[in-house]
Amino acid sequence: MVLIPQAAPALRFARFREAIEPRILGVLGGSQYILGAEVARFEKDFAAYLGVRHCIGVNSGTDAMMLALRALDLGAGDEVLTVSLTAAGTVMPVLHVNATPQFVDVDPRTRCIDLDLLEAAITSRSRAILPVHLHGFPVDMPRLIEIAHRHGLAVIEDCAQAHGARVGGRFAGAFGDAAIFSFYPTKNLGCIGDGGAVVTNDDRVAERVRALRELGWQDRRRISSGLGYNSRLDELQAAVLNALLPHLDDYNRERVAIADEYRRLLDPASLELPPTHRGAVYHQFAVTAPMRDLLRSELRSRADIDTAVHYEIPLHRQPLFAPFASRPLPATERLAETMLSLPIQPEVANGKISYVAEAVAKASRQCRA
Ligand SMILES: *Cc1c(COP(=O)(O)O)cnc(C)c1O
Repeated sequence: MVLIPQAAPALRFARFREAIEPRILGVLGGSQYILGAEVARFEKDFAAYLGVRHCIGVNSGTDAMMLALRALDLGAGDEVLTVSLTAAGTVMPVLHVNATPQFVDVDPRTRCIDLDLLEAAITSRSRAILPVHLHGFPVDMPRLIEIAHRHGLAVIEDCAQAHGARVGGRFAGAFGDAAIFSFYPTKNLGCIGDGGAVVTNDDRVAERVRALRELGWQDRRRISSGLGYNSRLDELQAAVLNALLPHLDDYNRERVAIADEYRRLLDPASLELPPTHRGAVYHQFAVTAPMRDLLRSELRSRADIDTAVHYEIPLHRQPLFAPFASRPLPATERLAETMLSLPIQPEVANGKISYVAEAVAKASRQCRA
């Protein structure tokens, strides 16, 4: 039996090779390798897809968050409400701008920020909320925005796992003052290196992010009018994204179909399944099991199935972020100990769903016995 990997971006690039290769060759033969025609086209098309005014391509999702925080003037003395059950890229930028993260526990069902606890955690120093649409499950954004408006808080959505996710017909990323995306190769929309974007409906935020990504250049190239970074999206990455964007909705539908099939085959009495939502895009399909680590090693050794954990050590348990853990986060800790991400990438999972589901059911019975 050959190993079933948890994710294999190379298989996606092989599948869409005919769309990707000519664009890459076009970039090689062109004259502009950074912020050229491919980037301009991607920014236009991705903004149109999401229904937002601006998309600004940058170097990574982490950089996108940093530039969005700076464009919204967040800094020293500002409290930023977010979650601990996420990638470091959500919260490390908060520290870079000298703001203070406030970790709010997640709802044990949605695994995303608990909106009741969020409201209770708001103080006079709170300035912004960074919700994470974890695993492609969209946060209840209308309710979150209502809370943010009532308290005068900015909202930056972390959509790194939620390309194409929707709430009530509107895309994740179209609700906040700004949103960030990552195009890391394994994401639902991924490139062949690092890549990211900030999207926003606010002209001023867009203008500031454009200057911040390129050395503070505003009206004229090579004239710095403020502090900036070198955080540009390159043409090769944008070429891949342009080839894949037209397939994003179909691709997400395949993920939903795989999730539906897992749900049909797995018994919710023995394993907790991820929450359902008609706008979810299943960046991951994570079950929870009490003896998760044993289940994981059994699947690997007996069934050649690779799984992953997102995230094993929540941020508030990591040395850098631990000083900011100001309240207990029981749901975050329980999920970090019990969640297990099954293969969901279509090129990996299609044709193997019943094999994986049977192996998971069998191994979880054994782990309980
Ligand atoms: C991947 C990811 C990031 C960081 O994106 P990079 O492009 O790797 O910097 C941030 N937040 C979440 C939720 C992610 O999954």
